[in-house]
Parts: sequence; C-alpha cells; structure tokens
Amino acid sequence: MRDIVESLIRLQELELVLTESRILHAGEVPASVAGLEREVEACRHTIDKTYLKRYDMLRRNGLGVTREIGGVCGGCRLNVNQGDLNRMRRAEMPCTCPNCGRFLLLSER
Ligand SMILES: [Zn+2]
Repeated sequence: MRDIVESLIRLQELELVLTESRILHAGEVPASVAGLEREVEACRHTIDKTYLKRYDMLRRNGLGVTREIGGVCGGCRLNVNQGDLNRMRRAEMPCTCPNCGRFLLLSER
C-alpha cells in the first residue's frame, strides 16, 4: 500500500509546483505550466478514485499526504502511538494519521 501513498506524494508535489507556477505566470499559460497540468492529470489517472476523493478533500485545507518521522505525523505534529504504527505497517490499506486523517508515508524501519 506504500505505492499508493507514494503516488499521492508525487501528485501533491506536482500540484504544489503547478499552483506556484500559475501564481508566477498569472494571465499567461507558458508551455511549462501546460506541461505540469498534463503531468498532474496523468498522475491522477494512476490513482484509485476512492483515495483521490479523500486526498482532494484533505487538500482543501493544505497537505493531503505527509510523512511519519520518528512516530510523529508531519502534518499535525502529533505522536502516532506505536500500536497504531504497527497496525498500519501490516494493513492492506494506505496509512492515514489517526489524528488529522492525512495519508501517511511511514518511515522505513
Ligand atoms: Zn496527523
């Protein structure tokens, strides 16, 4: 399930760059922005709609996906308890933070 979260991170990176490029090139659409738009679309097509829907909801308030580092969620900065981390490592679902609900890319151990 790590691959889904990695795809979401890739999508989020592209969207963040696209947002900034649109701000920098307000009123015009240079080839670089059009290329990014196509990349975002292509990336979205590789991700299951169920996860995309949740991701898009989360993105309205900032980041939809973040990393877990040292047992702490990079989004809400709260500790994720060890039991939850162990459960998520074994789960067949993409990991999400029990506190803020963001998709979590768990650190390698
Ligand atoms: Zn969190």
